[in-house]
Amino acid sequence: MILDMLPILSGASQELHFDFSFVPEKDGLLVSVYEDVDFTDPIVVTGYVKNMAGYMILHADVKVKYDTMCARCAEPVSSVLEITFEKDIASSGDVSSDNDDYIIIEDKKLDVLPSVEEQIMLEMPSKTLCKEDCKGLCYKCGKNLNEGECSCEKHEVDPRLAVLKTLLK
Ligand SMILES: [Zn+2]
Ligand SMILES: [Zn+2]
Repeated sequence: MILDMLPILSGASQELHFDFSFVPEKDGLLVSVYEDVDFTDPIVVTGYVKNMAGYMILHADVKVKYDTMCARCAEPVSSVLEITFEKDIASSGDVSSDNDDYIIIEDKKLDVLPSVEEQIMLEMPSKTLCKEDCKGLCYKCGKNLNEGECSCEKHEVDPRLAVLKTLLK
């Protein structure tokens, strides 16, 4: 999403609204970073750019629907990540181009997408669970413990107790 910043830069308007959606590209950043995540629905972005008398900000609301595997039991999970963020905007020349605190306007145009992708990567949970208290899989037999207990002995026997047990035999 490339915004034409001319109306703001020239003072013709104080605020520019935008909304767009995008499907992460197959060989793009998001897909390569989150290999186990399936971005099923287009990511929806709404927001605005505003002139704050002397400086400019970008405000964006982002909604990401995705499918992945539960980090404990490996069952499929659908989840939604909702993000709101604001970032300062500067014209190229005013700040150095490697200053990450700003989104830089190049040629009176502002590319919203890189900031959105960056923000998603900051806020994407490293683990998604099917439910808060997912019991996971038994590490011995592999049974999904959400579906019920298995018959494996749950706690490793304390080695000292094991010695005692053999002595008692
Ligand atoms: Zn789970
Ligand atoms: Zn088991």
